[in-house]
Amino acid sequence: MHANVLALTWILGLLGTAVGTAAEPARWYRGNTHTHSLWSDGNDFPEMIVGWYQEHGYDFIALSDHNVLPTTEKWMGLEQIQKRQKTLGRSAFDKYLAKYGTPWVETREVDGTRQVRIKKLSEYRPLFESPGKFLVLQAEEVTNSSSGKPVHINAVNVPGETPIPAINAGTAVQEIIRETMRRALDLEKRTGQAILVHLNHPNFQWGVSADALARAVEERFFEVYNGHPSINHLGEAGRPGDEAIWDICNAIRLKELRAEPLYGLATDDSHQYHGGSNTPGRGWIMVKAASLSGNHLVEAMRRGDFYASSGVRLRDVSYDPGARKLRVGVEGEPGITYRIRWIGTRTDCDLSAPDPNTNGIGAVLREETGTEAEFNLPADLLYARAVIVSSRPHPNPSYPGQLEQAWTQPVGWK
Ligand SMILES: [Zn+2]
Ligand SMILES: [Zn+2]
Repeated sequence: MHANVLALTWILGLLGTAVGTAAEPARWYRGNTHTHSLWSDGNDFPEMIVGWYQEHGYDFIALSDHNVLPTTEKWMGLEQIQKRQKTLGRSAFDKYLAKYGTPWVETREVDGTRQVRIKKLSEYRPLFESPGKFLVLQAEEVTNSSSGKPVHINAVNVPGETPIPAINAGTAVQEIIRETMRRALDLEKRTGQAILVHLNHPNFQWGVSADALARAVEERFFEVYNGHPSINHLGEAGRPGDEAIWDICNAIRLKELRAEPLYGLATDDSHQYHGGSNTPGRGWIMVKAASLSGNHLVEAMRRGDFYASSGVRLRDVSYDPGARKLRVGVEGEPGITYRIRWIGTRTDCDLSAPDPNTNGIGAVLREETGTEAEFNLPADLLYARAVIVSSRPHPNPSYPGQLEQAWTQPVGWK
Protein backbone atom coordinates (compact mmCIF):
# COMPACT_ATOMS: atom_id res chain seq x y z
CA MET A 1 0.00 0.00 0.00
CA HIS A 2 1.28 3.50 -0.86
CA ALA A 3 2.35 5.61 2.14
CA ASN A 4 -0.20 8.38 1.42
CA VAL A 5 -2.96 5.84 1.14
CA LEU A 6 -1.82 4.31 4.40
CA ALA A 7 -1.90 7.71 6.10
CA LEU A 8 -5.34 8.46 4.70
CA THR A 9 -6.63 5.09 5.82
CA TRP A 10 -5.24 5.78 9.28
CA ILE A 11 -6.85 9.25 9.45
CA LEU A 12 -10.18 7.89 8.17
CA GLY A 13 -9.94 5.14 10.76
CA LEU A 14 -9.47 7.71 13.52
CA LEU A 15 -12.34 9.84 12.19
CA GLY A 16 -14.52 6.76 12.01
CA THR A 17 -13.75 5.89 15.60
CA ALA A 18 -14.14 9.50 16.76
CA VAL A 19 -17.60 10.02 15.29
CA GLY A 20 -18.71 6.46 15.91
CA THR A 21 -19.29 5.55 12.28
CA ALA A 22 -16.92 2.62 12.19
CA ALA A 23 -19.43 0.50 10.23
CA GLU A 24 -18.28 -0.17 6.66
CA PRO A 25 -20.75 0.71 3.92
CA ALA A 26 -22.38 -2.39 2.49
CA ARG A 27 -20.84 -3.76 -0.72
CA TRP A 28 -21.59 -6.55 -3.16
CA TYR A 29 -20.12 -9.99 -2.57
CA ARG A 30 -20.27 -12.76 -5.14
CA GLY A 31 -20.81 -16.35 -4.07
CA ASN A 32 -22.08 -19.80 -4.87
CA THR A 33 -23.92 -21.80 -2.22
CA HIS A 34 -24.36 -25.16 -3.97
CA THR A 35 -21.40 -27.32 -5.06
CA HIS A 36 -20.34 -30.96 -4.68
CA SER A 37 -16.94 -32.52 -4.01
CA LEU A 38 -15.45 -35.96 -3.29
CA TRP A 39 -17.10 -35.68 0.12
CA SER A 40 -20.20 -36.98 -1.71
CA ASP A 41 -20.74 -37.36 -5.47
CA GLY A 42 -18.57 -34.59 -6.94
CA ASN A 43 -15.42 -35.58 -8.85
CA ASP A 44 -12.73 -33.32 -7.40
CA PHE A 45 -10.91 -32.56 -4.16
CA PRO A 46 -12.34 -29.73 -2.03
CA GLU A 47 -9.14 -27.64 -2.27
CA MET A 48 -9.19 -27.82 -6.08
CA ILE A 49 -12.82 -26.70 -6.19
CA VAL A 50 -12.46 -23.86 -3.67
CA GLY A 51 -9.33 -22.75 -5.56
CA TRP A 52 -11.33 -22.66 -8.81
CA TYR A 53 -13.92 -20.32 -7.30
CA GLN A 54 -11.28 -18.10 -5.73
CA GLU A 55 -9.46 -17.80 -9.06
CA HIS A 56 -12.71 -16.99 -10.88
CA GLY A 57 -13.64 -13.84 -8.95
CA TYR A 58 -15.89 -15.21 -6.24
CA ASP A 59 -15.82 -13.82 -2.68
CA PHE A 60 -17.42 -16.81 -0.96
CA ILE A 61 -18.14 -20.45 -1.63
CA ALA A 62 -20.04 -23.24 0.08
CA LEU A 63 -19.33 -26.88 -0.74
CA SER A 64 -22.65 -28.58 0.00
CA ASP A 65 -22.30 -32.34 -0.12
CA HIS A 66 -25.16 -34.78 0.31
CA ASN A 67 -26.03 -35.50 3.96
CA VAL A 68 -22.47 -35.03 5.17
CA LEU A 69 -20.29 -32.36 6.74
CA PRO A 70 -16.54 -32.37 5.96
CA THR A 71 -15.61 -32.94 9.59
CA THR A 72 -14.56 -36.59 9.82
CA GLU A 73 -11.60 -38.69 8.68
CA LYS A 74 -12.28 -39.83 5.12
CA TRP A 75 -10.12 -41.90 2.76
CA MET A 76 -10.99 -42.81 -0.83
CA GLY A 77 -9.47 -45.29 -3.25
CA LEU A 78 -7.74 -43.69 -6.26
CA GLU A 79 -9.57 -46.12 -8.53
CA GLN A 80 -12.91 -45.06 -7.13
CA ILE A 81 -12.05 -41.41 -7.79
CA GLN A 82 -10.92 -42.23 -11.31
CA LYS A 83 -14.17 -44.11 -12.00
CA ARG A 84 -16.21 -41.13 -10.93
CA GLN A 85 -14.23 -38.92 -13.26
CA LYS A 86 -15.00 -41.32 -16.13
CA THR A 87 -12.64 -40.49 -19.00
CA LEU A 88 -12.49 -36.74 -18.55
CA GLY A 89 -8.81 -36.02 -19.17
CA ARG A 90 -5.89 -36.18 -16.75
CA SER A 91 -6.70 -37.82 -13.44
CA ALA A 92 -8.08 -35.69 -10.62
CA PHE A 93 -5.49 -37.18 -8.27
CA ASP A 94 -2.56 -36.32 -10.57
CA LYS A 95 -3.75 -32.72 -10.88
CA TYR A 96 -4.24 -32.51 -7.11
CA LEU A 97 -0.78 -33.93 -6.41
CA ALA A 98 0.82 -31.61 -8.97
CA LYS A 99 -0.78 -28.56 -7.35
CA TYR A 100 -0.39 -29.39 -3.64
CA GLY A 101 2.37 -32.01 -3.51
CA THR A 102 3.44 -33.96 -0.46
CA PRO A 103 3.22 -33.82 2.50
CA TRP A 104 -0.11 -31.99 2.01
CA VAL A 105 -1.45 -34.84 -0.14
CA GLU A 106 -1.62 -37.96 2.06
CA THR A 107 -1.87 -41.44 0.62
CA ARG A 108 -1.84 -44.93 2.12
CA GLU A 109 -2.08 -48.52 0.99
CA VAL A 110 -4.91 -50.71 2.35
CA ASP A 111 -5.21 -54.33 1.17
CA GLY A 112 -3.31 -53.51 -2.01
CA THR A 113 -5.46 -50.45 -2.75
CA ARG A 114 -3.97 -46.98 -2.86
CA GLN A 115 -6.06 -44.41 -1.03
CA VAL A 116 -5.95 -40.64 -0.55
CA ARG A 117 -7.31 -38.68 2.38
CA ILE A 118 -10.03 -36.13 1.65
CA LYS A 119 -9.27 -33.07 3.75
CA LYS A 120 -11.63 -31.67 6.34
CA LEU A 121 -12.94 -28.12 5.99
CA SER A 122 -11.03 -27.13 9.15
CA GLU A 123 -7.80 -28.20 7.41
CA TYR A 124 -8.20 -26.54 4.00
CA ARG A 125 -10.10 -23.43 5.04
CA PRO A 126 -6.94 -21.54 6.15
CA LEU A 127 -5.41 -22.00 2.68
CA PHE A 128 -8.07 -19.76 1.15
CA GLU A 129 -9.73 -17.54 3.71
CA SER A 130 -8.68 -13.96 4.20
CA PRO A 131 -10.76 -11.34 6.07
CA GLY A 132 -12.93 -9.29 3.69
CA LYS A 133 -11.50 -11.09 0.66
CA PHE A 134 -12.55 -14.70 0.65
CA LEU A 135 -14.79 -16.85 2.82
CA VAL A 136 -15.55 -20.58 2.86
CA LEU A 137 -18.91 -21.47 4.42
CA GLN A 138 -19.65 -24.88 5.84
CA ALA A 139 -22.71 -26.35 4.14
CA GLU A 140 -24.67 -29.49 3.43
CA GLU A 141 -27.33 -30.59 0.97
CA VAL A 142 -29.95 -32.24 3.15
CA THR A 143 -30.99 -34.89 0.66
CA ASN A 144 -34.45 -36.22 1.43
CA SER A 145 -36.87 -38.22 -0.59
CA SER A 146 -40.63 -38.21 -0.21
CA SER A 147 -42.20 -41.38 -1.63
CA GLY A 148 -39.34 -41.62 -4.13
CA LYS A 149 -39.36 -37.91 -5.07
CA PRO A 150 -36.24 -35.85 -4.29
CA VAL A 151 -36.58 -33.00 -1.78
CA HIS A 152 -33.13 -31.43 -1.58
CA ILE A 153 -32.51 -28.56 0.82
CA ASN A 154 -29.25 -26.68 1.31
CA ALA A 155 -28.16 -25.59 4.78
CA VAL A 156 -25.41 -22.99 4.36
CA ASN A 157 -23.21 -21.53 7.13
CA VAL A 158 -24.24 -24.49 9.23
CA PRO A 159 -22.28 -24.81 12.51
CA GLY A 160 -20.91 -27.87 14.29
CA GLU A 161 -19.64 -31.27 13.27
CA THR A 162 -22.88 -33.18 12.72
CA PRO A 163 -25.07 -32.79 9.64
CA ILE A 164 -28.75 -31.93 9.89
CA PRO A 165 -30.19 -35.39 9.20
CA ALA A 166 -32.42 -36.26 6.25
CA ILE A 167 -36.05 -36.90 7.12
CA ASN A 168 -37.96 -40.15 6.84
CA ALA A 169 -38.93 -40.98 3.27
CA GLY A 170 -42.60 -41.46 4.18
CA THR A 171 -43.03 -37.78 5.07
CA ALA A 172 -44.93 -35.36 2.78
CA VAL A 173 -42.84 -32.86 0.78
CA GLN A 174 -44.20 -29.83 2.57
CA GLU A 175 -43.57 -31.38 5.98
CA ILE A 176 -39.97 -32.34 5.04
CA ILE A 177 -39.22 -28.71 4.17
CA ARG A 178 -40.91 -27.36 7.30
CA GLU A 179 -39.18 -29.85 9.60
CA THR A 180 -35.75 -29.12 8.07
CA MET A 181 -36.40 -25.41 8.59
CA ARG A 182 -37.39 -26.01 12.22
CA ARG A 183 -34.22 -28.03 12.85
CA ALA A 184 -32.03 -25.37 11.24
CA LEU A 185 -33.67 -22.53 13.15
CA ASP A 186 -33.29 -24.47 16.39
CA LEU A 187 -29.58 -24.97 15.66
CA GLU A 188 -29.27 -21.27 14.83
CA LYS A 189 -30.88 -20.31 18.14
CA ARG A 190 -28.54 -22.55 20.09
CA THR A 191 -25.34 -21.40 18.35
CA GLY A 192 -26.01 -17.82 17.23
CA GLN A 193 -24.85 -18.74 13.73
CA ALA A 194 -27.33 -17.63 11.04
CA ILE A 195 -28.11 -20.53 8.68
CA LEU A 196 -29.29 -19.97 5.12
CA VAL A 197 -31.71 -22.74 4.14
CA HIS A 198 -32.73 -22.91 0.49
CA LEU A 199 -34.94 -25.40 -1.32
CA ASN A 200 -33.08 -26.73 -4.35
CA HIS A 201 -34.16 -27.42 -7.95
CA PRO A 202 -37.92 -28.02 -7.34
CA ASN A 203 -38.35 -29.55 -10.81
CA PHE A 204 -35.62 -32.19 -10.42
CA GLN A 205 -37.60 -35.37 -11.11
CA TRP A 206 -40.63 -33.11 -10.56
CA GLY A 207 -40.06 -33.57 -6.82
CA VAL A 208 -41.46 -30.35 -5.32
CA SER A 209 -44.65 -28.72 -6.58
CA ALA A 210 -45.28 -24.97 -6.39
CA ASP A 211 -48.19 -25.65 -4.04
CA ALA A 212 -46.10 -27.70 -1.57
CA LEU A 213 -43.30 -25.12 -1.61
CA ALA A 214 -45.77 -22.24 -1.14
CA ARG A 215 -47.24 -23.91 1.94
CA ALA A 216 -43.87 -24.64 3.55
CA VAL A 217 -44.01 -21.04 4.76
CA GLU A 218 -40.95 -21.18 7.05
CA GLU A 219 -38.79 -21.57 3.94
CA ARG A 220 -37.88 -18.17 2.49
CA PHE A 221 -35.38 -19.18 -0.24
CA PHE A 222 -35.26 -21.39 -3.31
CA GLU A 223 -33.21 -21.83 -6.48
CA VAL A 224 -34.78 -19.88 -9.32
CA TYR A 225 -31.82 -21.06 -11.40
CA ASN A 226 -29.60 -24.13 -10.85
CA GLY A 227 -26.84 -24.92 -13.34
CA HIS A 228 -27.35 -28.69 -13.36
CA PRO A 229 -28.62 -29.62 -16.85
CA SER A 230 -31.07 -32.28 -15.53
CA ILE A 231 -33.23 -30.14 -13.27
CA ASN A 232 -35.96 -29.14 -15.78
CA HIS A 233 -35.35 -25.43 -15.33
CA LEU A 234 -37.82 -24.49 -18.06
CA GLY A 235 -40.51 -26.99 -17.04
CA GLU A 236 -42.51 -28.75 -19.74
CA ALA A 237 -46.06 -28.77 -21.09
CA GLY A 238 -48.38 -28.61 -18.08
CA ARG A 239 -45.50 -28.13 -15.61
CA PRO A 240 -44.24 -24.65 -14.75
CA GLY A 241 -40.53 -23.80 -14.98
CA ASP A 242 -38.56 -22.54 -11.98
CA GLU A 243 -39.41 -18.89 -12.58
CA ALA A 244 -43.15 -19.59 -12.92
CA ILE A 245 -43.00 -21.71 -9.73
CA TRP A 246 -41.58 -18.65 -7.98
CA ASP A 247 -44.56 -16.49 -8.98
CA ILE A 248 -47.15 -19.18 -8.22
CA CYS A 249 -45.65 -19.69 -4.75
CA ASN A 250 -45.57 -15.99 -4.02
CA ALA A 251 -49.13 -15.48 -5.27
CA ILE A 252 -50.37 -18.25 -2.92
CA ARG A 253 -48.28 -16.97 0.00
CA LEU A 254 -49.22 -13.31 -0.28
CA LYS A 255 -52.86 -13.66 -1.32
CA GLU A 256 -54.05 -16.78 0.46
CA LEU A 257 -51.63 -17.55 3.29
CA ARG A 258 -50.60 -13.98 4.24
CA ALA A 259 -47.06 -15.35 4.49
CA GLU A 260 -43.74 -13.87 3.39
CA PRO A 261 -42.66 -14.54 -0.21
CA LEU A 262 -39.76 -16.65 -1.45
CA TYR A 263 -36.50 -15.09 -2.56
CA GLY A 264 -34.60 -16.60 -5.48
CA LEU A 265 -30.98 -17.77 -5.76
CA ALA A 266 -28.90 -18.92 -8.71
CA THR A 267 -26.38 -21.70 -8.02
CA ASP A 268 -24.06 -24.10 -9.83
CA ASP A 269 -24.84 -27.49 -8.24
CA SER A 270 -21.62 -28.55 -10.00
CA HIS A 271 -20.38 -32.13 -9.72
CA GLN A 272 -17.82 -32.23 -12.58
CA TYR A 273 -14.53 -30.33 -12.68
CA HIS A 274 -12.67 -32.00 -15.55
CA GLY A 275 -15.09 -31.24 -18.36
CA GLY A 276 -18.55 -32.75 -18.79
CA SER A 277 -22.03 -31.28 -18.65
CA ASN A 278 -22.28 -30.25 -14.99
CA THR A 279 -19.40 -27.79 -14.56
CA PRO A 280 -18.95 -24.76 -12.26
CA GLY A 281 -19.55 -21.06 -12.96
CA ARG A 282 -23.08 -21.06 -14.37
CA GLY A 283 -25.07 -19.36 -11.61
CA TRP A 284 -24.31 -17.32 -8.51
CA ILE A 285 -25.67 -14.72 -6.11
CA MET A 286 -24.54 -11.17 -5.42
CA VAL A 287 -25.20 -10.17 -1.80
CA LYS A 288 -25.04 -6.59 -0.55
CA ALA A 289 -23.71 -7.09 2.96
CA ALA A 290 -21.99 -5.02 5.65
CA SER A 291 -19.04 -7.40 5.67
CA LEU A 292 -17.90 -10.75 4.31
CA SER A 293 -19.07 -12.90 7.22
CA GLY A 294 -21.53 -15.77 7.32
CA ASN A 295 -23.94 -13.96 9.60
CA HIS A 296 -23.82 -10.69 7.64
CA LEU A 297 -24.39 -12.50 4.34
CA VAL A 298 -27.37 -14.47 5.66
CA GLU A 299 -28.88 -11.42 7.36
CA ALA A 300 -28.57 -9.39 4.15
CA MET A 301 -30.27 -12.16 2.19
CA ARG A 302 -33.12 -12.29 4.69
CA ARG A 303 -33.63 -8.58 4.04
CA GLY A 304 -33.74 -9.31 0.32
CA ASP A 305 -30.46 -7.47 -0.32
CA PHE A 306 -29.21 -9.79 -3.05
CA TYR A 307 -29.88 -10.87 -6.60
CA ALA A 308 -29.37 -14.04 -8.61
CA SER A 309 -27.26 -14.09 -11.76
CA SER A 310 -26.28 -16.36 -14.61
CA GLY A 311 -24.02 -13.70 -16.13
CA VAL A 312 -25.63 -10.23 -15.89
CA ARG A 313 -24.06 -7.87 -13.34
CA LEU A 314 -26.08 -5.10 -11.74
CA ARG A 315 -24.60 -1.81 -10.58
CA ASP A 316 -27.42 -1.52 -8.14
CA VAL A 317 -30.98 -2.46 -7.39
CA SER A 318 -33.06 -0.39 -4.98
CA TYR A 319 -36.63 -0.09 -3.84
CA ASP A 320 -38.29 2.99 -2.37
CA PRO A 321 -41.30 1.68 -0.42
CA GLY A 322 -42.84 5.16 0.06
CA ALA A 323 -42.95 5.87 -3.67
CA ARG A 324 -43.36 2.15 -4.53
CA LYS A 325 -40.54 2.57 -7.03
CA LEU A 326 -38.13 -0.23 -8.05
CA ARG A 327 -34.88 0.81 -9.77
CA VAL A 328 -32.34 -1.30 -11.59
CA GLY A 329 -28.95 -0.31 -13.00
CA VAL A 330 -27.07 -2.80 -15.17
CA GLU A 331 -23.28 -2.94 -15.40
CA GLY A 332 -23.43 -2.81 -19.17
CA GLU A 333 -20.77 -4.17 -21.50
CA PRO A 334 -20.01 -2.78 -24.94
CA GLY A 335 -21.92 -4.37 -27.80
CA ILE A 336 -24.38 -6.12 -25.48
CA THR A 337 -28.01 -5.04 -25.04
CA TYR A 338 -30.17 -5.70 -22.00
CA ARG A 339 -33.90 -6.26 -21.83
CA ILE A 340 -35.31 -5.24 -18.45
CA ARG A 341 -38.56 -7.04 -17.81
CA TRP A 342 -40.85 -6.02 -14.94
CA ILE A 343 -42.86 -8.92 -13.63
CA GLY A 344 -45.68 -8.83 -11.10
CA THR A 345 -48.72 -10.59 -9.71
CA ARG A 346 -52.05 -8.80 -9.41
CA THR A 347 -54.13 -8.71 -6.23
CA ASP A 348 -57.09 -10.04 -8.26
CA CYS A 349 -55.05 -12.96 -9.66
CA ASP A 350 -56.87 -16.25 -10.00
CA LEU A 351 -55.08 -18.87 -7.88
CA SER A 352 -57.23 -21.66 -9.30
CA ALA A 353 -56.51 -20.84 -12.98
CA PRO A 354 -53.46 -22.63 -14.36
CA ASP A 355 -53.05 -20.50 -17.51
CA PRO A 356 -50.24 -17.97 -16.90
CA ASN A 357 -51.55 -15.81 -19.77
CA THR A 358 -54.84 -15.04 -18.08
CA ASN A 359 -54.52 -15.72 -14.35
CA GLY A 360 -52.53 -12.55 -13.49
CA ILE A 361 -49.69 -14.50 -11.82
CA GLY A 362 -46.16 -13.56 -12.86
CA ALA A 363 -47.41 -11.27 -15.64
CA VAL A 364 -44.92 -9.29 -17.73
CA LEU A 365 -46.04 -5.75 -16.90
CA ARG A 366 -43.56 -3.87 -19.06
CA GLU A 367 -40.35 -4.51 -20.93
CA GLU A 368 -37.67 -2.09 -22.05
CA THR A 369 -34.15 -2.09 -23.44
CA GLY A 370 -31.31 -0.28 -21.68
CA THR A 371 -29.03 -0.35 -18.66
CA GLU A 372 -31.04 1.92 -16.39
CA ALA A 373 -34.75 1.68 -15.62
CA GLU A 374 -37.33 2.24 -12.96
CA PHE A 375 -40.81 0.93 -12.36
CA ASN A 376 -43.65 2.41 -10.29
CA LEU A 377 -45.65 -0.40 -8.75
CA PRO A 378 -49.38 0.10 -9.29
CA ALA A 379 -51.53 -0.34 -6.15
CA ASP A 380 -53.14 -3.48 -7.54
CA LEU A 381 -49.94 -5.59 -7.38
CA LEU A 382 -49.09 -8.13 -4.68
CA TYR A 383 -45.40 -7.62 -5.58
CA ALA A 384 -43.13 -6.89 -8.51
CA ARG A 385 -39.63 -8.00 -9.49
CA ALA A 386 -37.22 -7.46 -12.38
CA VAL A 387 -35.53 -9.90 -14.73
CA ILE A 388 -32.68 -8.63 -16.87
CA VAL A 389 -31.91 -10.63 -19.99
CA SER A 390 -28.67 -10.03 -21.87
CA SER A 391 -28.32 -10.38 -25.64
CA ARG A 392 -25.21 -12.50 -24.96
CA PRO A 393 -25.60 -16.27 -25.03
CA HIS A 394 -24.48 -17.99 -21.82
CA PRO A 395 -20.86 -19.13 -22.38
CA ASN A 396 -21.54 -22.51 -20.75
CA PRO A 397 -25.30 -23.04 -21.08
CA SER A 398 -27.24 -25.58 -19.01
CA TYR A 399 -30.09 -25.63 -21.58
CA PRO A 400 -30.25 -24.82 -25.29
CA GLY A 401 -30.53 -21.14 -26.20
CA GLN A 402 -29.75 -19.89 -22.69
CA LEU A 403 -28.98 -16.15 -22.45
CA GLU A 404 -27.23 -14.51 -19.50
CA GLN A 405 -29.71 -13.19 -16.93
CA ALA A 406 -30.19 -11.58 -13.53
CA TRP A 407 -33.19 -11.86 -11.22
CA THR A 408 -33.99 -9.31 -8.50
CA GLN A 409 -36.13 -10.13 -5.45
CA PRO A 410 -39.87 -9.41 -5.12
CA VAL A 411 -40.67 -6.02 -3.55
CA GLY A 412 -43.79 -4.06 -2.63
CA TRP A 413 -45.36 -6.88 -0.59
CA LYS A 414 -44.70 -5.59 2.95
ZN1 LIG B 1 -29.85 -31.81 -5.26
ZN1 LIG C 1 -26.68 -30.68 -5.31
